[in-house]
Amino acid sequence: MAEVTWRSVAPGVYVRRHEELNLNCGLVVGEDRALLVDTRSYHQHGVELAAAVREITDLEVTVVNTHAHYDHCFGNSAFRDSQIYAHVGAVDDLRRTAEHQREQIVAHMRATHREGIAEEILATEIVLPFYLVEQDTPLDLGGRSVELLFAGRGHTDHDLAVSVPDAGVVFAGDLVEEGADPMMEDAFPQEWAPTLRALLAKGSAEQADVWVPGHGAVVDRGFVEDQAARLAQLGERFDEVLSGGLAGVDALVSAGRGLGLEDQTLRDAAVRALELR
Ligand SMILES: [Zn+2]
Repeated sequence: MAEVTWRSVAPGVYVRRHEELNLNCGLVVGEDRALLVDTRSYHQHGVELAAAVREITDLEVTVVNTHAHYDHCFGNSAFRDSQIYAHVGAVDDLRRTAEHQREQIVAHMRATHREGIAEEILATEIVLPFYLVEQDTPLDLGGRSVELLFAGRGHTDHDLAVSVPDAGVVFAGDLVEEGADPMMEDAFPQEWAPTLRALLAKGSAEQADVWVPGHGAVVDRGFVEDQAARLAQLGERFDEVLSGGLAGVDALVSAGRGLGLEDQTLRDAAVRALELR
């Protein structure tokens, strides 16, 4: 893969896509401060990201975590001098799950012979976001304003998107996924489509045609609409099966086939749908 580097998607708006998990971080530069979207998987990743931010700007950096999954926020420890924003639900989630997430990744890294990364993750201090929002919140960066958007439950119960209205860009976090299926483990499968459509319709996002997913290639509005349509179909099919009474994982998985989603994704979604019923 090519060298990891910031790519400008609009004036003063950058995306840095990382080899690990195809994770995207975002940077929006104003006149007074810059906003960094997500911080990667562990302290050393965050340190490297902080150095990369300094290649673009010397301004004060404010951080937002789109959600509480480790790959988006365990790098926070490299930004402890920054204001770190997140949805209030992200902090609840981190308090409950951070150590469990850590155990799981460490086990995965060891199982795939990446002991060095396992050690890094073990040594990483979890730094909680402390500027907490529950609804759409504008942030003035000086000369330009961004908006933190909460459209409802979808990929998690606390996904924040970041809209840059003057550039027509939205950082969607894992509400939008390119190159891989939407991640269902903590999702609200039947609510995801309405949430995505609500996000598309928000005043500050309604004109945006550059959508940066949490992972994968930058996409346009049509891609997001298609993903919403696919999730809506999945939701309808699940609702139908669930209303029949005899629903189990297998029945839900087979109802979801044909939408271009992998069986493992359908299985995770089915388990969630049954848990949430
Ligand atoms: Zn992610």
